[in-house]
Amino acid sequence: MQAIQAFYPQLSAPKKVVITTHQKPDGDAMGSSLGLLHFLTQLGHSVTVISPTNWAGFLKWMPGANMVVDFEFSKEVAARFLGEAEFLFCLDFNVLHRTKHMEAILAELKCTKVLIDHHQQPQEDYFTYGVSNPDKSSTCEMVFDFITESGFGDKINTTIAECLYTGIMTDTGSFRFTSTTADVHRIVAQLKETGFNHTLVHENIYDSFLENRIRFIGHCLLNRMEVLYEYNTAIMAISKNDLLRFYIKTGDTEGLVNQLLTIQGIRLGALVIDRDEERKWSFRSKGDFDVNTFAREHFEGGGHFNAAGGRTNDSLDGTVWKFKKVIKQYEEQLQQS
Ligand code: 5GP
Ligand code: MN
Repeated sequence: MQAIQAFYPQLSAPKKVVITTHQKPDGDAMGSSLGLLHFLTQLGHSVTVISPTNWAGFLKWMPGANMVVDFEFSKEVAARFLGEAEFLFCLDFNVLHRTKHMEAILAELKCTKVLIDHHQQPQEDYFTYGVSNPDKSSTCEMVFDFITESGFGDKINTTIAECLYTGIMTDTGSFRFTSTTADVHRIVAQLKETGFNHTLVHENIYDSFLENRIRFIGHCLLNRMEVLYEYNTAIMAISKNDLLRFYIKTGDTEGLVNQLLTIQGIRLGALVIDRDEERKWSFRSKGDFDVNTFAREHFEGGGHFNAAGGRTNDSLDGTVWKFKKVIKQYEEQLQQS
C-alpha cells in the first residue's frame, strides 16, 4: 500500500468510482462514504456508493443515502458497478471480511483500491494507496483531511459538512471520547462555517426512534443485564425472541452497549445479540482495558482500544458462558483499570 498522497494527482481525471464500507454501516461509515461521494462528484467523477448490507433507519435522512446501493438487496446492480469501477474506495473498514458477502467480489477486483480508515491492523496487501490511522477520531475526520490535503478544501459545502459532521459526532460519542483532539474541534469549526444545522443532525440521529425501540431498551436494562462487580463488568445478552417481540430493526440496538458503562465503577461493558447467522458481540471499556485485543483473542473480532466488536457461531448461552470463563483471567486488570 502506497501513501495516499501518491494518489492525489489522479483525482483530477474523471473516473468510474465505487465507494464501499463495512456491513451494517454506522454514522461514520455512511457519513464518510456520502461525504466523499459529494466531493468526488464535484470533481466530475461518476460515483456509486455500495453498502454490503442495509443500514439503520436513523441514517436514511442523510444527503445521498437514497442513492446508496444495498448489495444484499441488489446484487446484480452492485456487481455491475463493481466490475466497471476504475477506483474503489474502502472507508471505515480495513479487512475484506467486514464486507460480508461482498468479500469474494472485492477480492477479485483489479482496479485501483484506496483505503481511508482508522482501525488497527489493515490488510495492506489489498490496497494500492491508503491511509490508516487508529489515532483519528473517525473516518469522516480522515475524509476531511483527504479533501483539504489534496488541495480541494474549497469544495466542502453544507452537504459535505453535514455528512462529515455526522460521522465525527457519532464516532466520538458526541465529542467525549479521548480521540476528540483539538484538531477535531478545529475541523468541526470549519465544517460549521459552511452553515449546516448541527442541531438537526443530532435530532435526526438520536431522536428519531419509534416507541417499540425505547420499550425494548427498558426490557433489556430490566431483564437482560447482569453486573459482575468482581470484574467491574456488565454484560447483556439479547435473544432472537427479544428482537422479534419488539420488532427490532437494523440500528435499533446501536448505543445500547454504552448504557452498561453508565454504572458507577463499571470498566467493561459487553453486549451480545443473537443475530440470524452469528452471535455478534460489542465491547466497550473505560480506561486502560484494551477491548480490541480482548475481541481479537477470544471472539474473532477487533476494533479500537475502547470500542470493539466480535462474533461467534456458538449459541447465545454458550458464548456468554465462554465470556464468563475468559474474563476470569482479567480479574486483576479490571480491578485496577
Ligand atoms: P460495534 O460494537 O459498534 O459494532 O463496533 C465497535 C467497533 O469495533 C467499530 O469500530 C467496529 O468497526 C469494530 N468492529 C465491530 N465488529 C468487528 C469485528 O467483527 N471485527 C473487527 N475487526 N472489528 C469490528
Ligand atoms: Mn469509524
